[in-house]
Amino acid sequence: MKIAVVGGGASGLVAAIYAKTKENEVIILERNKTCGKKILMTGNGRCNYWNQHFTSNFFHTHEKETLEKIISKDNQEEIKNFFKKIGIIPKIKDGYYYPYSNQAVSILEALIYEAKRLRIKIENNFYVNSIIKKENYFFINDSLKFDKVIIATGGSAAPKTGSDGVGFQLAKSFQHTIYKPLPSLVQLISNEKFLKEWAGVRCESLVSIYENENLIQEQFGEIQLTDYGISGICIFNLSRYASIGLEENQKITIKINFVPFTKQPINIFLDEYNKSVTKRSIKKLLEGFLNKKLIPIILYRSSIKEDVYYEELKKEEQQRLWKFLTSFELPIIGTKSFFNAQVTIGGISIKEINPNTMESLKEKGLYFVGEILDVDGDCGGYNLGFAWISGMLAGKNIKEENARKNEK
Ligand SMILES: Cc1cc2nc3c(=O)[nH]c(=O)nc-3n(C[C@H](O)[C@H](O)[C@H](O)COP(=O)(O)OP(=O)(O)OC[C@H]3O[C@@H](n4cnc5c(N)ncnc54)[C@H](O)[C@@H]3O)c2cc1C
Repeated sequence: MKIAVVGGGASGLVAAIYAKTKENEVIILERNKTCGKKILMTGNGRCNYWNQHFTSNFFHTHEKETLEKIISKDNQEEIKNFFKKIGIIPKIKDGYYYPYSNQAVSILEALIYEAKRLRIKIENNFYVNSIIKKENYFFINDSLKFDKVIIATGGSAAPKTGSDGVGFQLAKSFQHTIYKPLPSLVQLISNEKFLKEWAGVRCESLVSIYENENLIQEQFGEIQLTDYGISGICIFNLSRYASIGLEENQKITIKINFVPFTKQPINIFLDEYNKSVTKRSIKKLLEGFLNKKLIPIILYRSSIKEDVYYEELKKEEQQRLWKFLTSFELPIIGTKSFFNAQVTIGGISIKEINPNTMESLKEKGLYFVGEILDVDGDCGGYNLGFAWISGMLAGKNIKEENARKNEK
């Protein structure tokens, strides 16, 4: 049997390795001059390839039930063993798995080594622009003929790595439903005038995202304040709600609690804190727990002068200060584009895919794996985790189907 894997990224490499047998000729068709360009960028060059707390709670899709079948416990165990077998020793930090070498290249090279060991053919600089089925065969770019095709072209995020969304066009030609692709795990843009003043600040905060006046989700972690808006892992995890909300013309707001370290109500905390320190102006008082760049922004917005004392503040001034410290509102007018995004929301409906095999329910012999599907995960190794598992399922199914045929 002749099998084409379109795209030599995370899901494509694993799919190819699992599909290869003596009887199965497997060819990876990769548009770049090397495979796995994106893998090298993951986890800031360290590749956060898995997570200890891998459950569907960290994923988003229109079809949660189908997703749960794909990422079953057995499949999770199998892919973890696969990485052990290809020589990856994990370093686990807060549940995040990295290769012990701390280098993404270790993961990529282990996959490429395995592919070459199994004599999988890799055609680099090969751009697939059409897949047509005639009778029982697939024809790629009107010339190459295959029995089965696995589409592993990724989504639209980080197009400079090769995944520019072309896979969606290929899927459309087989009448698949595609939920509109939108950027996620991405920075958020605001148009507030003071942004240049807070650029460069990093601080731990509790951040919440609101659609109109409704709280959608909150996250705790380090935020990075920038001259265009706001970034950081917790913002990345909230960004999908901004992408979707803005697409639907909803009003999106981020609210920041700059004092997440106290469980006390802010009025009590500030009263007690003010009494516990030697006499000092409000500016000096805030310097005890706030980044210096934030103080003039918060005091200006609260209409409070820097040299007054906390106990001198009028009730309305105190209330404004409490609000800006615990619920600083940042209107969001956009997200950064796919160029900056780590992952794609939307894609091919997994309702149209067999969750045990990743085979299309619309076209026999055609498989979809990885980010091209309508599944996106939070930061933490979930997106690669989904790419590996879905690739494994497609490859394994092809291998087992072939073995069954040979037995007959
Ligand atoms: C900066 C960054 C950091 C990330 N960090 C992490 C992380 O630490 N942990 C994590 O879990 N996830 C991370 N992700 C997300 C993760 O990398 C992706 O979800 C995952 O790589 C998707 O795998 P894939 O196989 O579906 O697609 P990709 O890895 O994008 O591979 C698709 C491949 O298909 C090729 N291709 C596309 N179209 C064609 C065509 N027409 N013809 C031939 N070849 C084609 C591309 O060149 C590419 O090689 C990160 C993403 C980015 C951008």
